[in-house]
Amino acid sequence: MVRNHIEPKTGRKRNGILPLIALLMLSIASGCNQSPANQQAASNVSPPAKKTKVVTTFLPIYWFTKAVAGDAAEVEILVPPGTEVHEYQAKPENVRAIATANVLVKNGLGLEEFLEETVKNAQNPKLTEIDASKGIKPLAEISPIVSTAKEEKDHDHEHTEGNPHVWLDPVLAKQQVTNIRDGLIAADPQNKAIYEANATAYIQKLDSLNSEFQQTLQKNPNCTFVTFHDAFPYLAQRYNLKQLAVVEIPEDQLSPSDVQNAVNAVKKYKVKALFSEPGIDNKLLKSLSQDLKLNLQTLDSLENGETDPQHYFQAMKANLQNLATACK
Ligand SMILES: [Zn+2]
Repeated sequence: MVRNHIEPKTGRKRNGILPLIALLMLSIASGCNQSPANQQAASNVSPPAKKTKVVTTFLPIYWFTKAVAGDAAEVEILVPPGTEVHEYQAKPENVRAIATANVLVKNGLGLEEFLEETVKNAQNPKLTEIDASKGIKPLAEISPIVSTAKEEKDHDHEHTEGNPHVWLDPVLAKQQVTNIRDGLIAADPQNKAIYEANATAYIQKLDSLNSEFQQTLQKNPNCTFVTFHDAFPYLAQRYNLKQLAVVEIPEDQLSPSDVQNAVNAVKKYKVKALFSEPGIDNKLLKSLSQDLKLNLQTLDSLENGETDPQHYFQAMKANLQNLATACK
């Protein structure tokens, strides 16, 4: 998986103190605006009607929340796009963001392992949490894994709460958007109409994305594919495909037995396609795909990309294209 952006943990502390002081001063100012003189002073300092502050965990949850909130709330993201969410270590600024937020939106299903401790450290009794996967029944079993490297006990996807990648199924994404909408309305009822209208528009696009997937992929039922990230079982289940995850790829060199394991799996499961993730230019995968005589395509788990909520549709349509091509 992509593990870039390993930032040093220190060096940001000083920056964070200023907003806190500013906030403190603001609350003092607004706390004593009963007398006319102070009211004058306060109105000079205080900003226009304060928006609800919503922090989201990682990119897809940011998109869905931003799509619903529009400009009615202030939406932030904790895990910077390009940073691995599965093994994310919280930073001091994450604690500060949660400490001053009204609402926290997470994917849930055990994805955000860093969150519990971070929320505890933020000590924000007014925080409302929205679990975007509320009501979604997770797939308990993880796809069959063919390990090319030697088995590791602590690999990325040792998820106790089932597979968390529900956002990659447009139908379950709708459920997430609905959960986020209802949570935002409960936390900020003043903007109910905005949240409802925005959610409806986004859900309509998810509906047509779903039909596009259905129409395109029904031509190749049971197409079996291999990925190196166990991210697509919901997508596969929705559209009658079969994901076979080959998770472990050694860091440096493929051994002959790694290649043999992969070849055996490809034969056993009649694999039609091999999928890497965008942005990964991996020589090992290339040589493996040549050995397997399979086309190497990309499938995007959407854990990385642009922050525009519409990017979900572009990336999913690219996934659909690549699936359709590979499954032909
Ligand atoms: Zn993932």
